[in-house]
Amino acid sequence: MVSRPARLTPPVECVRLFDAASGLDGVIAIHSTALGPGAGGCRLWSYDDMDAALADALRLAEGMSYKNALAGLPFGGAKAVLRRPAGDFDRAALFRAFGEAVERLGGLYVTAEDVGTGVDDMHEVARVSRHVAGLHAKDGRAGGDPSPWTALGVFEAMRAAARFALDSELEGLTVAVQGTGNVGADLCRRLAGAGAKLVIADPNPARRDRLAHVHDARVVGVDEIAVADADIFAPCALGGALDRDAVKRMKARIVCGAANNQLATPDIAALLVDRGIAYAPDYVVNAGGIINVSAEYLGEDEASVAARVAGIAPRVADILRIAREEKRSPAAVADEMAEAVIAGAQRAVAA
Ligand code: NAD
Repeated sequence: MVSRPARLTPPVECVRLFDAASGLDGVIAIHSTALGPGAGGCRLWSYDDMDAALADALRLAEGMSYKNALAGLPFGGAKAVLRRPAGDFDRAALFRAFGEAVERLGGLYVTAEDVGTGVDDMHEVARVSRHVAGLHAKDGRAGGDPSPWTALGVFEAMRAAARFALDSELEGLTVAVQGTGNVGADLCRRLAGAGAKLVIADPNPARRDRLAHVHDARVVGVDEIAVADADIFAPCALGGALDRDAVKRMKARIVCGAANNQLATPDIAALLVDRGIAYAPDYVVNAGGIINVSAEYLGEDEASVAARVAGIAPRVADILRIAREEKRSPAAVADEMAEAVIAGAQRAVAA
């Protein structure tokens, strides 16, 4: 039996955000504070209705609890989801109103950027709240764009997965990279440097073609990348890249990438096992970004970020080994490890 266990705890708190003057409309979901304040980014996206935004916030906050726990961070899991106002809006006013809501929580929630938000937005939040990271880095301190740290973690995890599943270094292997944005582009640079061959796809032709030119990568369509002729598939675009059809037709023997929520449905974890594809669990692999955010918030330096990011690859190797030995999915093994960390902290709080 390789299915994923039921997930841990219900959210401990949801805060509805609404401010007619600025257009703020959304929710902060705090899933767990057993390990520390709930930490997770702020997403700005167009949702059909509040139910859809809430569902996304709950799912993402839960994922952050697992990610933060396994990364060894002193943070629980949380996420803010804001509905993008229709038409023009005053972005600075919206993020200041959001920041005031973050501040009212008194440190129970720590925010940073996510899909649809950026460093400038977080600087607006920082005008009214100190519970924010993802600001411009200052002299040797952690901070700034987390993407390079995420890419480094993915790259090292991929190296470990290749050694484990293919008994090979990355040199000479072909990696199919889905999405050549901030993380995907930096990952391609590292892979090319390590002597891997690249296949890439991105609906943004300028970004994709520039990268193909620089790294001599083969370009395929966005519908082909998951099933491209490659040794490793690296989802670095949106969630849900691993659906039943893609996994059934996949040629790669390893999946290791930056995207969150790569499994379209939980049962895909079992299908990957059946097909003999080594799946490096997404939230273990892509923790570099939140490690950087956490260090920034705690006032740590870049060396501590590097040390924590260096822990990702051995963790992935352990998870793949245990999964193979116990004939389980790596996703289930990772979830169980994260739950043990959170449950341990809950016991310590209760004692
Ligand atoms: P990004 O927006 O910079 O890049 C995403 C890229 O994917 C874009 O170039 C976009 O055009 C492309 N894309 C969209 N749909 C695609 C498709 N169907 N096929 C191929 N490409 C497609 O985002 P990013 O910061 O590089 O993050 C990539 C993924 O990693 C996201 O899922 C993000 O949530 C996750 N992640 C990022 C970080 C980080 O530090 N940036 C940390 C953890 C997780």
